[in-house]
Amino acid sequence: VMASMAHLQEEKMRLQEELLGLQEKLAARENNELSRSLQLQGQVETLKAKLLEQAQEISRLRSELKHRDLLAAENERLRQEMKACEGELRELRQQQQAPCRDCVHLQENAGLQERLSQLQREAEETRAKLAELDLEVQQKTNRLAEVELRLKDSLAERAEEEERLSRRLRDSQETIACLKSQPQQIKYIIKTVEVESAKAKQALCESQSRNQYLQEQVGMQRQVLKEMEQQLQSSQKTAAQLRAQIMMYEAELERAHGQMLEEMQAMEEEKNHAIEEAFSRAQVEMKAVHENLAGVRTNLLTLQPALRTLTHDYNSLKRQVRDFPLLLQETLRSARAEIGQAIEEVHSTNRELLRKYRRELQLRKKCHNELVRLKGNIRVFGRVRPITKEDGEGPEATNAVTFDADDDAVLHLLHKGKQVSFELDKVFPPQASQEEVGAAVHTAAGRQGTPPLSSDTPRSPQVFQEVQALVTSCIDGYNVCIFAYGQTGAGKTYTMEGCSGSLGTLPRAVLGMPCWGGAGAHHPPAVAMVTGPPLPRDLLGKEPQEKLEIKLCPDGSGQLYVPGLTEFRVQSVEDINKVFEFGHVNRATECTNLNEHSSRSHALLIVTVRGLDRSTGLRTTGKLNLVDLAGSERVGRSGAEGSRLREAQHINKSLSALGDVIYALRSRQGHVPFRNSKLTYLLQDSLSGDSKTLMMVQVSPAEKNTSETLCSLKFAERVRSVELGPVSRKAELVSWPSHEHLE
Ligand code: ADP
Ligand code: MG
Repeated sequence: VMASMAHLQEEKMRLQEELLGLQEKLAARENNELSRSLQLQGQVETLKAKLLEQAQEISRLRSELKHRDLLAAENERLRQEMKACEGELRELRQQQQAPCRDCVHLQENAGLQERLSQLQREAEETRAKLAELDLEVQQKTNRLAEVELRLKDSLAERAEEEERLSRRLRDSQETIACLKSQPQQIKYIIKTVEVESAKAKQALCESQSRNQYLQEQVGMQRQVLKEMEQQLQSSQKTAAQLRAQIMMYEAELERAHGQMLEEMQAMEEEKNHAIEEAFSRAQVEMKAVHENLAGVRTNLLTLQPALRTLTHDYNSLKRQVRDFPLLLQETLRSARAEIGQAIEEVHSTNRELLRKYRRELQLRKKCHNELVRLKGNIRVFGRVRPITKEDGEGPEATNAVTFDADDDAVLHLLHKGKQVSFELDKVFPPQASQEEVGAAVHTAAGRQGTPPLSSDTPRSPQVFQEVQALVTSCIDGYNVCIFAYGQTGAGKTYTMEGCSGSLGTLPRAVLGMPCWGGAGAHHPPAVAMVTGPPLPRDLLGKEPQEKLEIKLCPDGSGQLYVPGLTEFRVQSVEDINKVFEFGHVNRATECTNLNEHSSRSHALLIVTVRGLDRSTGLRTTGKLNLVDLAGSERVGRSGAEGSRLREAQHINKSLSALGDVIYALRSRQGHVPFRNSKLTYLLQDSLSGDSKTLMMVQVSPAEKNTSETLCSLKFAERVRSVELGPVSRKAELVSWPSHEHLE
């Protein structure tokens, strides 16, 4: 038993070993199977990738097909162009029927040919593109075939592999079956051993279960394999479909290509036709041109002689032109010399003329001064104003003044039934005008007060003409005084300042200054306005109430000046008007009734004229004093009292003082009482020496004013009677009555 036990043990050991070996074998198989399946999976993966690639390839082919569509569109466009060309050709044919003379058609022809060649070029290009596309399609089909081949190969491989695998499976099943049968053979032995070794039995059981599990696994693997086969079949199907599609596309491509070729052919034919037509047209045109050319040639032949004569003329002209600069230079030289000589002559004449002019100017000044002096440095004029509305009506307003028809220096006054005659230097009747400066001044306003002048009546005396000589003296550098004397309302202001539409002496004098018109020889005259008593007060200043002082110039010239006196430079009528306005405003602020006020105060306008004669270099300064005196009427009789009486007396005193001074000057007395009144003191430098003085005595012709008129005329005559011109310059010692005395 021991020996059999040992034997059994041994047997058991062997069986166990065998089992182990079988187990190992099984494990190896399993491993093998696993790797196989992995391999197969990998193959399936690669196949899938290939399928993807093919799908891409197909999409690309589709896009190419799209490109073909584009080409078809291009083809369509070309066809339309061709149609347009045809239209043009038809037009051209129509034009051809019209007579064609110029070469426009040739140009058109060329354009058409160019266009044709362009179209040909385009066709060529499209053809090239088509060829390219064909080539590409060819390549694609080749590639497709290749891919198919490869697919086939891979399929075959797969079948082979499958077969191999099944074979192997069968083998392994066989071996497994064999192995299974082996245990049955040893079952008997085992059963004998079983009693001793339950463990071994258990192990066997385990191995059996294990075996089963393996079989299951193999079944599973087989299923997987089947699935894979199905997949493969489906992929093959899709490949077949794709191939069919490709074939379809290819067919379509072929068809399109064929169409394109046909169209190309048609286009080419049309093109050839057009070219032929154009060519024939061009030939006709060329013929016409040739004919024209022949005509032109004959013309040219006739023109040649004319050309010859023209060239001849041209050559001679050219020669003349060549000689011209020399001639010109010569002429210029002589002309220049002549001009220089002439200029020299003119220059010397000018110099001579200037010298003579200077001499004449000085002579004129001397003569003028002599003339004024001969007329008398102190002159007395009378001016009778016309009867105005203010004089009222009735016997009081009748005219009491008559004139001598032959003597313009005599005037007769009817006073209390008696006719008194007076002789002055000159008498201006009521119709005497202020003298017009320009028609502009005499506007529709008319000349106030003066009767209108008709062309057939002799011109009446003009006041300013007489004054003008004095203004000229002033510009020559002499001082001048012009006084307006007379009772209130006798026309003093009218004569001096004038009224609207009738400029007075004063603006005319200022305007007569030769600084106007841009000669530049004189500065614009400076104008100052002074009033009094008390004299002097600055009418243009800010403080017209303030009394200023009169001072002697420190340069020893004997000239007087008023420090702080305001002066305005005037250059135009507007400036003068502004000065007057300003002065009147300042005067008006002192009183309510201007005429009443002006009857109780003097108004002086001092115009300073500085001149420079450029040709002689002489500088002159003249002063023109225009004095609107206070009313000369006597107030004693009208019963004025208090300050009014004192004022009237004061004015009468200053007027008597003026009379005294003029009398003393005219009678050439050693002492002139300038200092007796502020007025004469202020005007001292304009009254003495070679100064000129004019006394304008204003009178009213009205009956009611005769006593005042008589007084004024007496004053005038007494002033004048002292001296009757320089020829009979002898001082008559007439007693000078005071103003009160005159009464
Ligand atoms: P005065 O200044 O002497 O007091 P006006 O000059 O104020 O006198 O003259 C008084 C009035 O007489 C004014 O209305 C003025 O227009 C007028 N008048 C004076 N002289 C003339 C004249 N020659 N022609 C026309 N009107 C004159
Ligand atoms: Mg007045």
